[in-house]
Amino acid sequence: MKGVTVITHPLVQHNLTRLRDQRTGPQEFRRVLGEVAALMLYEATRSFAVEPIPVKTPLAPARGFQLRREVVLVPVLRAGLGMLDSILQLIPHARVGFIGLKREETTLRAVFYHKSLPPDLSKFEVILIDPMLATGGSAVGALDLLAELDARRVRLVNLVAAPEGIRRVRKHYPHLPIFTAAIDERLNDKGYILPGLGDAGDRLFGV
Ligand code: URA
Repeated sequence: MKGVTVITHPLVQHNLTRLRDQRTGPQEFRRVLGEVAALMLYEATRSFAVEPIPVKTPLAPARGFQLRREVVLVPVLRAGLGMLDSILQLIPHARVGFIGLKREETTLRAVFYHKSLPPDLSKFEVILIDPMLATGGSAVGALDLLAELDARRVRLVNLVAAPEGIRRVRKHYPHLPIFTAAIDERLNDKGYILPGLGDAGDRLFGV
């Protein structure tokens, strides 16, 4: 699908399979989700702009690079938290915003219960993080909020995506880069991804 990068790296696929496995308990799920998130971040940040800066090694001047823009990581609560720590290890200077969205059980509509973000996102690289892109309702809700705050460079990182969710995000944000480890078959009638990995939040936190 256009604009969607499926990260086929063997370590990503190996870890995704462990996360799918129903025998993987919360402790291991947390660890493996962190590992896979870090691996996915390499791919998701590959096109970040850098600018050259001079640097002196102990031996001689050298040409170095620094990221052109500050980074804001935005995990969607609660499952996005499972990917945050390991990403912060890679980008420790990143700021972190939070978006809390829950799905109404009957309508599957996304409803905000928490928002904390820098007020002006125009100068930042923004990475929206949610392990599961299911109906796309939460993603579009979160993207609308980021757009209201003038975010101009946003990328979406999902471990598993459903075709329905990708289509919905694409309809509203045709140019948004999406990074995922898998595009699964479809949603079930409760809005869960099949085969997916179940409820990512429940599996992470054991609740
Ligand atoms: N959220 C999840 O945690 N899992 C799904 O399959 C869909 C949404």
